Amino acid sequence: MTLSDKDGGGAGAIARLLLRWYDDHARSLPWRIAPGSGESPDPYRVWLSEIMLQQTTVAAVAPYFAEFTRRWPTVADLAAAPDEDVLAAWAGLGYYARARNLIACAREVVAAGGVFPDTEEGLRALPGVGAYTAAAIAAIAFGRRAVVVDANVERVVSRLFAIRTPLPASKPEIRTATDAITPEDRAGDFAQAMMDLGARVCTVREPACLICPIANHCDAREQGIAAILPAKTPKKPRPERTGTAFWIERGEGDAREVLLVSRPAKGMLAGMRALPSDGWSARGDGDGVPPVNAHWQVLEASVTHGFTHFTLTMQLMAARHDGGDVPEGEWWPVARIGDAGLPTLFARAAAGALACWPDGDD
Ligand code: SF4
Repeated sequence: MTLSDKDGGGAGAIARLLLRWYDDHARSLPWRIAPGSGESPDPYRVWLSEIMLQQTTVAAVAPYFAEFTRRWPTVADLAAAPDEDVLAAWAGLGYYARARNLIACAREVVAAGGVFPDTEEGLRALPGVGAYTAAAIAAIAFGRRAVVVDANVERVVSRLFAIRTPLPASKPEIRTATDAITPEDRAGDFAQAMMDLGARVCTVREPACLICPIANHCDAREQGIAAILPAKTPKKPRPERTGTAFWIERGEGDAREVLLVSRPAKGMLAGMRALPSDGWSARGDGDGVPPVNAHWQVLEASVTHGFTHFTLTMQLMAARHDGGDVPEGEWWPVARIGDAGLPTLFARAAAGALACWPDGDD
């Protein structure tokens, strides 16, 4: 791997060109300080946005970021919030371990004086902050020189250096190459410029090399292979799991209620509000056994949901509660099911149950 030097540039020239482009073309994002504004980034907002953006798109994150910063404008406000309020506000954003780590991290920062650590090492010690996130916060919030490599940066750098080794084996090579072009000054703007270039110019399917500020340094463009990089090792198919969710209802008309439970403290969707279900997990299928004796109906609806390591197809069963013992939980008004903060899987299950069983009849 070598740096192209087609116009007498090299690593320093790439950073200069990219930063100049960023000054004119930076995306306007709710958590971002515009280049040249003179304002200092708020580490809380940078941290919150980076946690939300893990595995999630900018478009999906924006309304959640707005709501979180409206309700909890500082890390102290977030640390003081009840767990269930934060988990409910997170509902729909997915990867719920992030929300639990978010709460733990906010409380740890507040317990240590309310100030985020300003080094990669210090940030990495916080719950939910991995190598990438620590580098991004150190660079963006504190201006530290850090090597920030997200999926956009992986794509840009793979192309810039024409790295043909497939991902993920190429990650160390990509990191070394990113390190080589990361400047000492404006490291945060540089990281954000690389992300913006990947999102807007060096896109997955059609890299717009004609308008790219670093085109003269790009080996993949010169070799005509930009669109096929980065190469990827084919993924193994995700295991398929099956399970059942149970809609248990009581009351009539406006007084209709459905039983909601809290998921176990460990495992998938831990601690979230949910319909009772039958023990499905990443490791195996559910047993299909309802939690109470009742006149059960199998509904003609199922929900398929992709988790990181498996795909779950969840059957739905419904019954009216006839007075026996039920699992520990809360009876929730059916008319307000949208306010329960159900994670996406169970929100879709609830919608499926109501579509198939609109009046709660058996
Ligand atoms: Fe990406 Fe094309 Fe720019 Fe190379 S020249 S970095 S392939 S947009």
